[in-house]
Amino acid sequence: MPPRTYGHIPGEPVGTLYPSRRELADAGVHRPLQAGISGSSIEPADSIVLSGGYEDDEDYGDEILYTGQGGRDPTTREQIADQELTRGNMGLALSRTHGHPVRVIRGASHDSPYSPQSGYRYDGLFQVVDAWYETGRSGHKVWRYRLVQIPDGAASAGIPARDPQLPLAPERRESTVLRIVRDTAKAREIKRLYDFTCQVCGIRLEGSAGPYAEAGHIRPLGAPHNGPDVLENLLCLCPNHHVLFDLGGFAIQDDYALLGLPGRLTVRPRHTINPAHLRYHREHYFS
Ligand SMILES: [Zn+2]
Repeated sequence: MPPRTYGHIPGEPVGTLYPSRRELADAGVHRPLQAGISGSSIEPADSIVLSGGYEDDEDYGDEILYTGQGGRDPTTREQIADQELTRGNMGLALSRTHGHPVRVIRGASHDSPYSPQSGYRYDGLFQVVDAWYETGRSGHKVWRYRLVQIPDGAASAGIPARDPQLPLAPERRESTVLRIVRDTAKAREIKRLYDFTCQVCGIRLEGSAGPYAEAGHIRPLGAPHNGPDVLENLLCLCPNHHVLFDLGGFAIQDDYALLGLPGRLTVRPRHTINPAHLRYHREHYFS
């Protein structure tokens, strides 16, 4: 197989219709004939197909909540095992970490007002901006992803595949959107409360225009997480520990002992953290 292509496929503009998965694969828009995710444990995903396989998928047009693959009984379609962070599921997680665009294809069998009447339609490039897991009623773990449409013209066409183990080139690093740093009134308040000092490592970054820190929401803002923008849900972090926290690289126990890192979170007397938010983060991001 030729290497994966990230971005648009030359000659296959957004809106192109394909009668079947075979034509979709032959065009190189989505190469697997059955799998919904084109990606692997070592390569970021380059495309996904929405075709009604998982009823948990939510489609808002320019934003999609997508469910990972695996763990289901092929006959009853019920979740009978945990979804693993391997193969396509890992591929989508790598797309998020490395900022690769993902082609989105909607199939007619996908239950959404955005679906085509018949066959499959290439609907453009999306960025994976969040990845977490949920434990459903079955008691099994299901991986979920938030994809946001990249405005037309913003994505580079035909980026050749790169080794995710290699460092990013400077120009790629600039275009990598890992997370949104929001500067709300509450964010400024938590940074002032800690005097811009990271609650995990105690480092205070000093730039020429003054100190720098980031406010991290413990339970993320926005659906489906719906974390509140309040001090009880905020941490003052250095950029490294903010990224690591958002990626599930470490978590925090109710007594502020760290999981995945040595040590303990520094919490000042005027800062009350809601343990329910710490638990939400542990149960959706840390594994
Ligand atoms: Zn830190």
